[in-house]
Amino acid sequence: MELIRQLDTATLAFVTGLAGFLLAATMAGIRLAGMRSVALAYWGLAGLTFGLGYQLGHLFLTVGMGVSAPVALTVANALITTMHVLLLAGVRAHLGRPTHLVPLLAVSAALMVVGNVWLDMTADLRTRVLVLSGFYLALDFASGVTLWRARGERQFQRLAACVFFFNGAFLALRFVYSAVTHGLTTSFVNDPFQILFFLVSLVFVYVLTLALALLMFRGKEVELRRLVHRDPLTGLFNRRSLFEHAAREQARCERYGTPLSLVMLDIDGFKAVNDTYGHGAGDDVICETAARIALALRDVDTAFRLGGEEFLILLPSTLLDDAVAVAERLRLAVSDAPVPAIGRQVTASFGVTELARGREDWEMAMRRADTALYRAKDEGRDRVFAMSPPAPDARAPNVAEALDLP
Ligand code: GH3
Ligand code: MG
Ligand code: MG
Repeated sequence: MELIRQLDTATLAFVTGLAGFLLAATMAGIRLAGMRSVALAYWGLAGLTFGLGYQLGHLFLTVGMGVSAPVALTVANALITTMHVLLLAGVRAHLGRPTHLVPLLAVSAALMVVGNVWLDMTADLRTRVLVLSGFYLALDFASGVTLWRARGERQFQRLAACVFFFNGAFLALRFVYSAVTHGLTTSFVNDPFQILFFLVSLVFVYVLTLALALLMFRGKEVELRRLVHRDPLTGLFNRRSLFEHAAREQARCERYGTPLSLVMLDIDGFKAVNDTYGHGAGDDVICETAARIALALRDVDTAFRLGGEEFLILLPSTLLDDAVAVAERLRLAVSDAPVPAIGRQVTASFGVTELARGREDWEMAMRRADTALYRAKDEGRDRVFAMSPPAPDARAPNVAEALDLP
């Protein structure tokens, strides 16, 4: 408490204003580092309006600068109100939602007019707090709740939400304090609560800067990971991530002694689709097929686009017979209904096999699935062909036979 009394509001207000500029500079830095996002612009502007609001308010009220107190307070409060609005708009933009910036700014402007004209809030800090802190509180809680409830990067979003809740909670306290006491007279009165208010605002803007920067970097990290591991056309895992996934699944099944099956499929007569309907329609057929496969798969199974119109599915804890049943279900799902882009059905052929656990690695099993797929094509397409893993006692010849090796 004594420490709080040693501090003075004017210096704290100045430093808190600088924190706003720090927020703006951080967001500008992230933008310069190559990250493009509307949210960055909103949050950067929020920092700027906050910094300007505090510095101008401070300059006008303590130094004078020939500006009357009501004008100084109106300018400062308008800027700080805009900051809270821009923070919420940034949160909504970050989550890909409509920002509602115009209605929110309209409400802010209306509040300033009502506060100044009817409530004469520039003359009295208490009224000002009751009108403005109430509004800031609502905006910060809206930002917090929006971030808390959003899907996506939960941990990081909730961290940022907590920063908003922290400030909102203090604003609520300030609101109640102002309602029940008459301690707050002017902004720069050295009242312990007012000192605490500037301190909390300072911590809020500092920690918010960090939380928002983390949120941006995390978003970018997730996007980059997605680009590395996913196929951009279908959203399925790509060939590169197959190597990681399959090696992991094999290690798991060796360790726990569980089976691992593989299904490879290829759309039938796809060249003709491209030739007849164009490459764009061909892409749509690939997407639609991928979506049908993903929908028909169990949660534990993972689908990969190997390239073109060829896919591989890893089925952990699945014996060959069950994998054949899954492939049969996928075959029906793929050819079930016409693909809208071309107005007709497409079919696919499937090769199925099971890993010979402890006797081969997954790449050998994948080559066998490929061989099985070509048998399905040979036998007339739109069908499932299964190849058993080589028997343990006649391992070498069977593998060679299955792979058609010399
Ligand atoms: P089959 O029944 O024997 O599989 O006959 P197919 O015509 O489907 O033969 P194949 O699998 O060899 O055809 C692959 C074709 O897919 C050739 C290639 O031009 C086309 N293709 C490969 N990648 C893409 C892609 O990303 N988009 C589109 N639209 N076409 C692709
Ligand atoms: Mg094909
Ligand atoms: Mg093909």
